[in-house]
Amino acid sequence: MKQQLAGLLALAMTLGASAMTFGAYAQDFVTRDSISKGRYTLIFVNRDQGFSQETKKEMIDAFFTVYPREAKRFNKHTLRTVTFLIDPGYKGVAETDNGRARYNPEWLRKNPEDIDVVTHEVMHIVQDYRHANPGWLTEGIADYVRYVSWRQ
Ligand SMILES: [Zn+2]
Repeated sequence: MKQQLAGLLALAMTLGASAMTFGAYAQDFVTRDSISKGRYTLIFVNRDQGFSQETKKEMIDAFFTVYPREAKRFNKHTLRTVTFLIDPGYKGVAETDNGRARYNPEWLRKNPEDIDVVTHEVMHIVQDYRHANPGWLTEGIADYVRYVSWRQ
């Protein structure tokens, strides 16, 4: 009986240890940073283990360069807090909904020069249309802003 108990205890300890290992491992896949500058906050959630720190920095810099500008010019009442999600499970390029922009890390890896996709996506947050607009118009405005935002 005593030996059985010892065996169970050893098993429980083994399971506990592997659960802890798994926990630490899983955490490596997800980082969450909250960066505030002036009146705006960017929450950067990364679910891609191998995501480039350089790309992350460029995206954060791009956000704080263009979002205040777009807000000032087009919508002073836009959201103060925006979330970026780097999502390896997402197969599009990028999409924005409800203050959250989602990016495909694989696409960013293959198009490292195209960081101003950030400009396009956050303009959708500034646009903040409460009802459906023609897609070509919404997309056209976001692309126009992407074009002019870096040339001021
Ligand atoms: Zn778009």
